[in-house]
Amino acid sequence: MQKTFDIAVVGGGLVGMAIAFGLAKRGKRVVVCDGEDNALRAARGNFGLVWVQGKGANCVNYARWSLHSADAWQGFADELLARSGVSIGFCRPGGFNIAQSREELASKAEAMQRLHLAEPRLKFEVLESKELAQRLPAVGPHAAGAIYSPNDGHVSPLYTLRALFAAYERVGGEYAPNANVTEINPTSGSFRLRVANGHTLEAGRVVLAAGLGNRTLAPQVGLRAPVKPLRGQILVTERVRPFLAHPTIYVRQTVEGSVLVGDSAEDVGFNDGVTPDVLADIARRAIAPFPLLEHVRVVRAWGALRVMTPDGLPIYEESASHPGAYLATCHSGVTLAAAHCDTVAPWILGGDRPALLDTFYANRFAV
Ligand SMILES: Cc1cc2nc3c(=O)[nH]c(=O)nc-3n(C[C@H](O)[C@H](O)[C@H](O)COP(=O)(O)OP(=O)(O)OC[C@H]3O[C@@H](n4cnc5c(N)ncnc54)[C@H](O)[C@@H]3O)c2cc1C
Repeated sequence: MQKTFDIAVVGGGLVGMAIAFGLAKRGKRVVVCDGEDNALRAARGNFGLVWVQGKGANCVNYARWSLHSADAWQGFADELLARSGVSIGFCRPGGFNIAQSREELASKAEAMQRLHLAEPRLKFEVLESKELAQRLPAVGPHAAGAIYSPNDGHVSPLYTLRALFAAYERVGGEYAPNANVTEINPTSGSFRLRVANGHTLEAGRVVLAAGLGNRTLAPQVGLRAPVKPLRGQILVTERVRPFLAHPTIYVRQTVEGSVLVGDSAEDVGFNDGVTPDVLADIARRAIAPFPLLEHVRVVRAWGALRVMTPDGLPIYEESASHPGAYLATCHSGVTLAAAHCDTVAPWILGGDRPALLDTFYANRFAV
C-alpha cells in the first residue's frame, strides 16, 4: 500500500465511498480504509429509498438537505453509469406513504403541510382512497389514502455501492480492505493512522465515515459522534410481475421484480439478527395495503443496524482542535449519497462549509 495520501477516508460504506469518490474525482490522492468482511455495514442492508417526504419534521434544514441530494441524484446516477458501467436502477417517480385510517391520513397531511409552509419546494398531494386506487391499482380496500410526493425515488443500494467502488478506483482512488483503523495521531499538518493489519499511513486530511465505528474514532481528533445502533429487519420476495411503479415507505418493487418489505426500528444493541415475530409483523403491514402479496414467497430476510444520532439528524463537522479532520455520519446514506459526493467533498477540499449544513454540529447534544 502507498503510504502517503492527501486524504484518508475511514469507512467504506455508502457515506465513505460517496465522499471518497467525490474527493478522488477532483484529483486528490485518496485512500479508503475499511473494516473486515463481517463488519457492521448499514450500506449493505438497507431499503434503498431516496426519500424526502416527511423528513425534517423538527428540522426543516434536514428536509432541505435531503431534497438537495434527491434533486442531484439523477446526475449522480448518470455519472456513476458513465464512469463505472454499472446501472444502479435509480428512478424518481414519486413515492407514496399509505395510511390505514382517516386519522392517520389527516395527521400525515398536517405534518406535510407544515413542512410545505416552511419550504414550498417540498411538494405533496393528499389522496383519498378512491384517488389512491386509481394511482396505485394494487392497493387493497383497507387503505384510507396516502400522501404522494414527487420528491421521492429509489435505487438498488448494492449496485450503488458497487458502482461507487468501480468509479472510485477508475479515478485513481485506493481501497484498503481489512484495514480497521485503531488509532489516529494528529502530527504537525497531517494525520498518522495506525491500521489493525500492522500498517501505518499518513494523510493530510482524514474523514471519519466509519458508521458506528465513528463513536470511538472521533474523540481521537477532538470530535464527537454519539451514534447508536438501531436495527431494521427487511424481507425480500421472489420476483413477481410488475405491480408497483412507485416506491412506498415500506414496500417497493425492484427493477428485477423482487419486492422489498420493511423495515422495523428496534433498540437491541449490536444484534443484527432476525426474529420471526418482527418479520411476521412486517409481512402483515405489507399485505394490509397490498393483498396480492399474501401468496408471494419470501426468499430472504436480514437485519441491519442503522447508524443513529440521538435526534436522527446527521453530523458534519471539521475538528476545531485538529483542523483537517472531518466527521460525516447520517442515517440516510442512500438519499444523501449525491450530496456527499458533490457538496460535502468540495467542502472537505477547502471550499466553504455549505450553508445547508448549518445545524448539523454535534454540540447540539451538549448538556
Ligand atoms: C434496515 C435499514 C434500512 C435503511 N433504509 C434506508 C433507506 O431506505 N434510505 C436511506 O437513505 N438510508 C437507509 N438506511 C441508512 C443507510 O443504509 C446508511 O445511512 C448508509 O448505509 C450509510 O452508512 P455508513 O456508510 O455511515 O455506515 P456503514 O454502511 O455501516 O459503513 C461503515 C463502514 O465503516 C467501516 N469501519 C467501521 N469502523 C472502522 C474502523 N475503525 N476502521 C476502518 N473502517 C471502519 C465498516 O467496516 C463499514 O464498512 C437504512 C439502514 C438500515 C440499517
